[in-house]
Amino acid sequence: MTRLTGITQTLAVPDELGVRLRRDVALAPYTTMKVGGPADYFATVTSVDQMIGLVRWAQAAALPYFILGGGSNMLVSDAGIRGLVIHNRCRQVRLEQPPHAAEGTQPCLFAESGAAMAGVARQSIRDGLTGLEWAVSIPGTLGGAVVGNAGAHGGEIKDSLETALILDGSGQVVAFQIADLAYAYRDSSLKQRQPLRAGFLPVVLSATFRLAHGDPAEVRARAEGYLAHRRRTQPAEPSMGSTFVNPSGDYAGRLIELAGLKGVRVGGVEVSRLHANFLINPGGVGKATAGDVIRLMEQIQTTVQARLGVALEPEVQLVGEW
Ligand SMILES: Cc1cc2nc3c(=O)[nH]c(=O)nc-3n(C[C@H](O)[C@H](O)[C@H](O)COP(=O)(O)OP(=O)(O)OC[C@H]3O[C@@H](n4cnc5c(N)ncnc54)[C@H](O)[C@@H]3O)c2cc1C
Repeated sequence: MTRLTGITQTLAVPDELGVRLRRDVALAPYTTMKVGGPADYFATVTSVDQMIGLVRWAQAAALPYFILGGGSNMLVSDAGIRGLVIHNRCRQVRLEQPPHAAEGTQPCLFAESGAAMAGVARQSIRDGLTGLEWAVSIPGTLGGAVVGNAGAHGGEIKDSLETALILDGSGQVVAFQIADLAYAYRDSSLKQRQPLRAGFLPVVLSATFRLAHGDPAEVRARAEGYLAHRRRTQPAEPSMGSTFVNPSGDYAGRLIELAGLKGVRVGGVEVSRLHANFLINPGGVGKATAGDVIRLMEQIQTTVQARLGVALEPEVQLVGEW
């Protein structure tokens, strides 16, 4: 049993869960931007049973929890996250046919929510399937992608998702169909409003995708084209992806470049010279703060508004205490 004494309570995770609870764990290494303060409590789960057991235990202990996937769609504050951060490494992926599948039935790909979305896409390509190849270039986990309806190159999660198994706020496992998820552009009924804090939120456990048989050479070529496009157009340094939402009919990156902001720096954070809607942290962990990122974002918003009359809205999600 792991016992940890907090300010107000002693927490003990049952031994049979096989989960190690740690205190005051720095979150920066677990995010793609490599900034952010500590989680009060932190645990990694590697199986769906562990995830269900740990979330139910936290619910029973009234300990707010936060699911961390690839940390690629968030900016964690320097003050960090109060409560329990659950690092999701449930990563099984397999091809499934529905029981008694009739000939010609479309194949289903099953994946646990901690699987890398790009890895799920690669597996589908290896299985000769088409429908997920757009995702080969997306960072983060399947869980984060299902929550945010991730998409690229004209494809998105809602195009091929069949069902998602979800652990709800009262600890019940429920199968959600696509209609239950209210999908919209990079949005769903599961997506939380900002700032994101630990709470008693639904957890995506796994998902199945309905795909089609494709021509393996064509599917592979499409996927390689998407990857090559990313390498040409996006920086390789730590970042959060697109920082601001594209204003209607325009591109945030074009406006930031036009305002003369490429290469501008605050602390350890810089506007990428390759793609101006990406803020990069070239030094990695310990060389920049979330405060640097916020100050640079404010400078960009003020300058673009003053020079071009456009109000840029953040796309990245603020997480933790601000
Ligand atoms: C370089 C770069 C390029 C990017 N390009 C794209 C792109 O082309 N298209 C695109 O859509 N996105 C893009 N993104 C953003 C990001 O990759 C996606 O939003 C991704 O799907 C987030 O997944 P994640 O696992 O990293 O989520 P996280 O950042 O870990 O979490 C995001 C939110 O989802 C919640 N969450 C995560 N997993 C679960 C779960 N299992 N159950 C419940 N809640 C959960 C978290 O609590 C949090 O609220 C890019 C990011 C980067 C850094």
